[in-house]
Amino acid sequence: MNIEAYRLVFIQIKCDFCHTTNGAKLITPSYDTLYGVQACPDCYECGKISLQKSLDKIGAIDPLDFKKHEDIENFINLLNEGNFPIKRTSGEIEYDWTLDYNIPIRKYEKGWSFGVCKNQISKLLYINDFIDNCRYEEIKSVDESRQNLMKNLISSSHKVIEISNKGFYKTLSES
Ligand SMILES: [Zn+2]
Repeated sequence: MNIEAYRLVFIQIKCDFCHTTNGAKLITPSYDTLYGVQACPDCYECGKISLQKSLDKIGAIDPLDFKKHEDIENFINLLNEGNFPIKRTSGEIEYDWTLDYNIPIRKYEKGWSFGVCKNQISKLLYINDFIDNCRYEEIKSVDESRQNLMKNLISSSHKVIEISNKGFYKTLSES
């Protein structure tokens, strides 16, 4: 049985699957505790699967699950190698940003995005824009190891998009 996740506001606490009020709990992604399903302990697995299907449908990956797929983990490791280029709205290129683990990988109209942060400021980054910046950096860089990092970031970014398009949780359950 599948229940589509919904806004958990003004709700009666009861299991969405067997309708018991006994021990029903909210099952939500870590980044949004007002979106999800409700399940009792017996229906917990159904609840978890339903939430994951809903996340695939709206195009979202919970940061807590990033490392469950090696291609996403690889992307994170490359980001952690550091000093990837971030273009600010002013057009200026900045460095020293890191992945923001509070922000999901998420699809919006402009495409897939992820979050980065620096000095407690968070910024949403479209992966396609990120790829463009890395490509630019790769071309202008004279340092070979930096060129390689950019190359790897570009190919890794494409993989993240590919998995996300397929459905991250669907891919996980099939592997
Ligand atoms: Zn139940």
